Amino acid sequence: MSIVSDLELVSLTKRYGQTVAVDAISHHFRAGTYACLLGPSGCGKSSTLRMIAGHESVSDGSVVLAGRDVSHLPPAKRGTAMMFQNYALFPHLTVRDNVAFSLRMAGVDKPERHKRADEMLELVEMTQYAARKPDQLSGGQQQRVALARALITRPQVLLLDEPLSALDPFLRIRMRAELKRLQRELGISFIHVTHGQDEALALADDIIVMNNARIEQAGPAREVFSAPRTAFVARFMGGHNVLSLPQGQIALRSDAMSIAPAQGGRLDGKVSNIEYQGTHVALTAQVAGDQEITALLSDEAFFAAPTELGQVIGLNWSDQAAHPLSE
Ligand code: ADP
Repeated sequence: MSIVSDLELVSLTKRYGQTVAVDAISHHFRAGTYACLLGPSGCGKSSTLRMIAGHESVSDGSVVLAGRDVSHLPPAKRGTAMMFQNYALFPHLTVRDNVAFSLRMAGVDKPERHKRADEMLELVEMTQYAARKPDQLSGGQQQRVALARALITRPQVLLLDEPLSALDPFLRIRMRAELKRLQRELGISFIHVTHGQDEALALADDIIVMNNARIEQAGPAREVFSAPRTAFVARFMGGHNVLSLPQGQIALRSDAMSIAPAQGGRLDGKVSNIEYQGTHVALTAQVAGDQEITALLSDEAFFAAPTELGQVIGLNWSDQAAHPLSE
């Protein structure tokens, strides 16, 4: 439907007075990928997204889409579209007119804009609600309308700011699958801001982890999860222990740890917590240097040789499960 294009951020910077919200970040978003900007609140994700969209001015650096510097173009002229967190639907307009709004602004005639609005409503499975007003829709339905409204401009890049945060957990997982389906079908790039690592892992081809206004690590989702480069990424992505050794810090996958009798592993630890999680048991042990290590053991492995609180055990891992971390 659209021409797919790469998006490049070049030393992109945002300052609000003395605050540096985004500090000279550079990243190449490959065309047609689902990318998640992931990081804790305040790390600069939304500012980055808004600069890409053109809803926030660029303090320094540039946004380049399909080889064209769009940094100073108005939002509607960039080839991007944004779906807002609060959907921002017009309450007095019907669903169809909400979706067609930007075409009306662009002077597209009524039959044509209705035709295109109806196509978009079909895409998000909202055809039967075309004549309703937004307050006659559920949260999930309003979100579909907001999506259709953003997509009607045929953007090369769709920008989504915490699009699932207002939904209940059940709907969130359903809409997550829906977003992924839409991205695949349209073949355009989606850039999705979230602070949830599970959401990013479920959706993203590429994850860009941000911390303190900078990109901490970026790459394919599986690589960022399984080979974190910094302690921050290892902790934020979860599923890892960060262990300080005399030679430096390493990240250890919790699910790649095994336990052995005392002195039979690489390290000894004293069991400090045992948490039953159904398919797994999370066993935490206190090791030298007042550090804790969690081993995620299969239910079978744990109950074959159950341990008790306070017991000293050996902890083992394979070399592949350990990743040296940099500062
Ligand atoms: P995130 O989306 O990761 O939560 P933001 O991009 O919203 O982060 O914010 C990054 C930093 O910039 C924060 O310190 C925030 O307080 C600040 N900030 C964001 N918007 C503004 C603004 N309009 N004026 C002043 N400071 C802002």
